Amino acid sequence: MSDLESWILHGEEMRRPLIFHPELKKSSKLIIVGGGLSGLCCAYRVAKKRPDLEIIIHEKTKNVGGVISTWKSDGWVCDLAVNAARPHPAFWRLVDDLDLQSVFKTSNPVAKSRWILIDGKRHRLSWRTLFKLGPVRLYNSIKKSRTGGLAVSELIPNKQVADAMCLGIVNDTSENVDADFLFPSMTRFGSNPPLKRSKLKKLIHGTYPIFTPKRGTISSIENGMQTLVDKLASDISTLPNVSIVQGEATSPEIVAKLYDVPQSSVIWAAPSSIISEQYTSLSIFAIGFKNEQVDGVELGYGTLIPNPEMPISGILHESDVHDSSRAPSGHRLFRLMVPHWRWDGENESVRRCAESLLSSNPVLFEKIGERKIPRYLPGHLQKMTQLNPECTYVGWCYSGVSVTHVVDQAERISELF
Ligand SMILES: Cc1cc2nc3c(=O)[nH]c(=O)nc-3n(C[C@H](O)[C@H](O)[C@H](O)COP(=O)(O)OP(=O)(O)OC[C@H]3O[C@@H](n4cnc5c(N)ncnc54)[C@H](O)[C@@H]3O)c2cc1C
Repeated sequence: MSDLESWILHGEEMRRPLIFHPELKKSSKLIIVGGGLSGLCCAYRVAKKRPDLEIIIHEKTKNVGGVISTWKSDGWVCDLAVNAARPHPAFWRLVDDLDLQSVFKTSNPVAKSRWILIDGKRHRLSWRTLFKLGPVRLYNSIKKSRTGGLAVSELIPNKQVADAMCLGIVNDTSENVDADFLFPSMTRFGSNPPLKRSKLKKLIHGTYPIFTPKRGTISSIENGMQTLVDKLASDISTLPNVSIVQGEATSPEIVAKLYDVPQSSVIWAAPSSIISEQYTSLSIFAIGFKNEQVDGVELGYGTLIPNPEMPISGILHESDVHDSSRAPSGHRLFRLMVPHWRWDGENESVRRCAESLLSSNPVLFEKIGERKIPRYLPGHLQKMTQLNPECTYVGWCYSGVSVTHVVDQAERISELF
């Protein structure tokens, strides 16, 4: 495939390192450790391309899907991890290949606004916000960030805005987050596209199946992301060359021995000690109201809250954003993200904070789960490029945090075969 074709298929993902073993394509049997979205996508893509290849997904838990699951109760529907995808053709291709076109919809165009809460006041967040920080300061810090390995706090010259963005994406504060990892196009990490970015964007736009997403939109799946994972698992179960085995792998070496393959035939789609194996934790709450109780809350995507004195770091307007229903008729659903280092562990303090920001007496208030998020310390992506790996590594721990990265990465891995 030519460089240009690859950029049209994968876009800015081409900046991110693909951590693969050069002998991977010689495998006659493939072991994929981890059955999260990443492991499942790799199995699905490679199995379809190479029906002659035996593929085993070695997953430590009873269920596949990893961090993705959707909580449902009496008409309320709320995702615990990712709830929607930003525009990227690889995600559209996956939805198309899984025949989920009819349940895949773009977000509500009137619920685009994002806010940031600073000193008790909500400010609308956009690219203009960054310019308001001072275009010269911003320009200088972007330029400096191109040396690589800096923290987001050094890229975005306003601590509250930088923290809010990092908390919203990786549940961490900006001095602890690698700028290259979160914003590789801004820091110009990796290689540059072989033609002007505006021309490339146009070419990429022409490749979307199903529908071409509009700028600033996200897209989601009816009944939550669990629908995607369930369909992926169900399609995989019909592929004769793929099987799922339950078990915890302790290292690529041991799992390779277990299945009598070289380590180069292992795709590790789970956390590993090649990264720092540090995590932050957060709890996720669902809170619901009758429409009239939250008349004063503008329709939107959500609010980021950098203030560490508040237990809630983000409020997502779940029922405003998605095309499919997330709340019983006449109600609105919000999802609350609660980092553990900011919280005393009492549900009541989350409730008090949410009531002060939204409205009192919710008809629903429930903690729906907890999740751990890998830490991406400054220099993370540079470290990934310098690996000389004993096997192939995929998934959100390594070169990209979002589902679009994970899904696109699986396509790039399948192209190696
Ligand atoms: C709260 C939250 C919000 C998010 N929001 C968004 C969002 O808005 N947009 C977006 O694009 N993305 C979002 N994400 C990220 C997205 O969910 C991830 O990118 C994606 O689901 C990661 O999939 P994965 O397969 O790489 O990892 P995981 O889902 O972590 O899967 C890893 C799998 O490996 C298994 N495993 C682990 N260790 C072993 C072992 N030793 N042996 C065998 N199996 C093992 C685990 O059980 C698991 O099934 C969010 C994530 C969270 C937690």
